[in-house]
Amino acid sequence: MNQPQTGELQALDRAHHLHPFTDFKALGEEGSRIITHAEGIYIYDSEGQRILDGMAGLWCVNLGYGRQELVDAATEQMRQLPYYNNFFKTTHEPAVRLAEKLCQLAPSDINRVFFTGSGSEANDTVLRMVRRYWAIKGRPRKRVVIARENAYHGSTIAGMSLGGMAPMHAQGGPCVPGIEHIRQPYWFGEGRDQSPTAFGQECAAALEAKILELGEDNVAAFIAEPVQGAGGAIIPPDSYWPAIKAVLARHDILLVVDEVICGFGRLGEWFGSQHYALQPDLMPIAKGLSSGYLPIGGVLVGDRVAEALIEEGGEFFHGFTYSGHPTCAAVALRNLELMEREGVIQHVREDVGPYLAKRWSELAEHPIVGEARSLGLIGSLELVADKANGERFDKSLAAGNLCRDLCFQHGLVIRSVGDTMIVSPPLVMTREQIDELVALARQALDDTA
Ligand code: PLP
Repeated sequence: MNQPQTGELQALDRAHHLHPFTDFKALGEEGSRIITHAEGIYIYDSEGQRILDGMAGLWCVNLGYGRQELVDAATEQMRQLPYYNNFFKTTHEPAVRLAEKLCQLAPSDINRVFFTGSGSEANDTVLRMVRRYWAIKGRPRKRVVIARENAYHGSTIAGMSLGGMAPMHAQGGPCVPGIEHIRQPYWFGEGRDQSPTAFGQECAAALEAKILELGEDNVAAFIAEPVQGAGGAIIPPDSYWPAIKAVLARHDILLVVDEVICGFGRLGEWFGSQHYALQPDLMPIAKGLSSGYLPIGGVLVGDRVAEALIEEGGEFFHGFTYSGHPTCAAVALRNLELMEREGVIQHVREDVGPYLAKRWSELAEHPIVGEARSLGLIGSLELVADKANGERFDKSLAAGNLCRDLCFQHGLVIRSVGDTMIVSPPLVMTREQIDELVALARQALDDTA
């Protein structure tokens, strides 16, 4: 794309396009970078710059860009049946085959899928389902869902309410009633006065305290991401999930594990739940399900909930025009088949995950890095002004955003949440490409310092 076209598109973009999660005023002043095409793990802009996509788009392009097999799956399906729905008593092969495949891959007690168009819709579905489940069970007072501060569960009203992002609540309120938040297991940010083990246990104890405060008879479910993604790639201390499991075992409360980011190989297993040996009742999914090639999400529903809903009978008044969209489902199915055929999960678990851990941890020695953590192919860096005591930069410096912008200039997409830098690259990355990612991040850290 030549320069004049770039300018024209930027002007039109300013004039007509409101971007998600964007300061509209700042965008109006600065203009957007125009991404023209992508291949493998790289995106390219209209100035011809090649940029390593350290975020796999938005944590979703797990198989990387330019996969002809996925284009073919979409084309073939669009020719045959581009759209039809699954309402009432119709269905079609892509949705059925995808549902079967997902249930094969999921933890053992999960044998049903409810499809949605996105992760947010999946979490709306979760809220409807858990409340209906307890009503069917004759316990309609069990309606409260306990979530965590700084969690991200989507941008619809229900997703935003389940999430624990204070700025979203402030703008988007009033939130859906009957959702409570407990502290997050963010050791670097909130727990450094004690050992990670003790802190993990304390965070799990906060769940039990909240259940007791609300009364078990009022609590429907606990929802959490295995590793908090948008909150800062927060990997909980090893003690956290076993302690949470023990709390849930003592109380009759459903476990919802939001797999929208951690699902489909990010942590080196098909699902994050498998990494942490969790047996969820419900698992919202999206993103990597289709490697982001087309929008599709869903909720994997465990037998306990599914069988109650089925047995009760009566219509579940919920669904979306694009639930189980045949073209999206065909692409998702091909995506899962390719991941299987290419051994992508093993590649993350045994090769590039451990290699990223090794190379990423070297950045912990950098003068402005307080902690470097990673698991599978998700990682983060905590920027600090004073390495000795972990003191943060003055907020007015916006060090994280500066580092993010410098990464972009050097040719690396990385994300900043405050002064936490995040990577979540395509899973098909090679070791050499990890070396490149680490070198680019180091360069930007040097420039930020
Ligand atoms: N849940 C988690 C854990 C997410 O990270 C996201 C999106 O980033 C969502 C839900 C919402 O998904 P979507 O943006 O597809 O609605």
